[in-house]
Amino acid sequence: MVDGTSYFKKAGLGPRVLQIGTNRTSEPGLRIGIYHIKAEVKLIMKLSEEMKNKTLLSFELFPPKTEKGLQNLPGTIDHLMKYNPSYISCTYGAGGGNVGANREVCQMIKNAGTTPVTHFTVIKNTKEGIKEQLDQYLADGVDHMLALRGDIPLGETTTCGDFDYATDLVKFVRDTYGDKFEIAVAGSPEGHISCRSLESDIAVLKQKQDNGADYIMTQLCWDMEQFARWQDKIRKAGVTMPIDVGIMPILDQAATISMALSRNGCVMDRELSRLISKYWIFPNPFDKAPFDDNLEQKKEDFKKAGIEYTIRQIDKYRALGVEGIHLYALNKWKDVSEIIDRSGLCTLV
Ligand code: FAD
Repeated sequence: MVDGTSYFKKAGLGPRVLQIGTNRTSEPGLRIGIYHIKAEVKLIMKLSEEMKNKTLLSFELFPPKTEKGLQNLPGTIDHLMKYNPSYISCTYGAGGGNVGANREVCQMIKNAGTTPVTHFTVIKNTKEGIKEQLDQYLADGVDHMLALRGDIPLGETTTCGDFDYATDLVKFVRDTYGDKFEIAVAGSPEGHISCRSLESDIAVLKQKQDNGADYIMTQLCWDMEQFARWQDKIRKAGVTMPIDVGIMPILDQAATISMALSRNGCVMDRELSRLISKYWIFPNPFDKAPFDDNLEQKKEDFKKAGIEYTIRQIDKYRALGVEGIHLYALNKWKDVSEIIDRSGLCTLV
């Protein structure tokens, strides 16, 4: 990756394709006759540098489990491309079980004309295995990653791989590949579920930065007061990396509850809890055969209210000066488009 930031900053320009054309010199003393150089240099600004100038918009996709899902994905990406996202990331199954599909999705993103960012975890990954996969990503033209530890597999107490933490992965990637990858890392505004304290988790984040990470992608956080406290604390701790905030559109009760509680222990603020209660699907949103008389109406009303809630959340994050809005697109484009259009994310710059 060529970082043209400093060059263009000095020149007062944005990133662009530069054409250098020189035809002839007649300067005295130069013993060069006639020559012609036509070089085309593609200068790409790092995402973390771009974030310093404006709030970036990006999306997250996951590799579909079915062939049909894979076939539909390019169409979804085309719709999302209307918003000119700075990048689209793709999740990675812990243990690398879906690495093939992940690479395929990264290619779709690249073909659509934006930067693919692959998530990558150390779970069940040896050093050699990690190097092999990262070499392959580079060969595919994928040089942006979200470096993660991943969740410890059920029934295990370790990562079952050569590295224990995301900090180790960041160091390994920097030591092995220098600046070839731009590296994002996870940040947890409420503290990672297994951390000893918020302070120790912030120290880990600082270590990620010291090991060479470029920017932060955050875990879900609906508690805006906690987010603001965390933002303040990490800055005081010397973390200067831009913050790209992960936002899950609130569209479905079961998915929202599951995302908050199944692994992450996220607090739901009063407004969101009330929404869930107001449109509660009986006997519960996880039941495969709900007996709720107003099932379809409630689903629709919840989604409508959830979209409005998500838009207000985006407003709050922007008011806190975050450097990026990273929408979990959930491989859907219609609801996500409504959120972007109504929030003014692409028009309020
Ligand atoms: P780490 O930063 O390594 O932290 C894990 C825990 O260990 C924390 O409690 C931390 O405080 C502690 N810790 C870290 N370093 C040390 C140390 N040196 N000494 C002592 N304690 C330490 N998972 C997937 O499987 N696939 C995905 O695609 C995926 N995408 C994600 C995207 C985002 C934006 C986020 C926020 C998370 C994603 N996850 C994904 C989930 C993530 O893998 C889990 O949250 C995982 O449990 C922790 O990963 P981490 O990189 O935050 O771990």
